[in-house]
Amino acid sequence: MISEFEIIRKYFTRPAPSAVLGVGDDCALVAARKGMTLALSTDMLLAGRHFVPDTDPLKLGHKALAVNLSDLAAMGADPRWALLAIALPSADEKWIAAFAKGFFRLARRFGTELIGGDTTKGPLTIAITVIGEVPAKLALRRDGARAGDDVWLSGATGEAALGLAHLQGRIKLKGRAREACLERLHAPEPRVKLGQRLRGLARSAIDVSDGLLADLGHIATASGVAAELRWDDIPRAKAIVDCENTSLAKECLLAGGDDYELVFTAPPSKRSAIEAAGRRAGVRVATIGAVIAGRPGIRLRDARGKNVSFGRAGFDHFA
Ligand code: ADP
Ligand code: MG
Repeated sequence: MISEFEIIRKYFTRPAPSAVLGVGDDCALVAARKGMTLALSTDMLLAGRHFVPDTDPLKLGHKALAVNLSDLAAMGADPRWALLAIALPSADEKWIAAFAKGFFRLARRFGTELIGGDTTKGPLTIAITVIGEVPAKLALRRDGARAGDDVWLSGATGEAALGLAHLQGRIKLKGRAREACLERLHAPEPRVKLGQRLRGLARSAIDVSDGLLADLGHIATASGVAAELRWDDIPRAKAIVDCENTSLAKECLLAGGDDYELVFTAPPSKRSAIEAAGRRAGVRVATIGAVIAGRPGIRLRDARGKNVSFGRAGFDHFA
């Protein structure tokens, strides 16, 4: 059986040229570039809570890092380094090798170096800390939205939650829809390039991990504003449009987690620059509403201005 130190050496030690010191000592050492502030975030994934235990390890390695990079994207930060704390039920080398492959493949794409972590035996748990850099004044915070801003969304929400509903047996997806939704669920794409390009354009941003309405609600609360969304302007993926269970599709669209799109606000004067940022980042961006003065909260209106009702706004581990 392979030892803890062999696992670290063989699977989790890679050159980290942009750190002062990487894996192997008591701490890693890093220095921010001139004029940059460090942006740090941790996200934890538990088997049975955030993913099914038999999830493909290659995809899990990707997803565990992707959800963390998504937080950096939502701040407009450049990913630099990551720390990986992992509890493994056993030293299954095939599993670890696939996990590491998924992790490093994504890490390489976004210039992220693994510089440390912790490895222990226990129920499968993955906690990753990412460290990025952003000029402090340009960080895309949740508290920057102002009345009059447009509300923007990258890509489309709902497919990941629809994929989860399929795995839970709440709906039976077939063909392309099934493929698309499961891919979104297991291998989300962090909108890092878009986040970077929104620096200096967007006034606030958040990534959609718990549901569009819930996450936009966090911006509203932090900024002390309300937001009014135009129901018809919210982009729908094909699987959502084609879904026969329309109430489930609506729930996934508005309250489904795990999509990792960015929802952000910006003054209307930035519209063409934001369209261009989306094109350069390779992701569709759409205006879906407006920030208005008022008690923090989200309203949803149809084309005739009538209120569209919705159930729960998003996911909460303790609710
Ligand atoms: P310590 O006893 O000081 O916590 P460890 O024996 O846990 O040190 O780890 C040895 C080195 O390997 C440290 O530099 C640590 O950051 C790194 N490390 C441990 N586990 C991982 C991992 N899963 N991924 C990356 N680095 C790791
Ligand atoms: Mg340790």
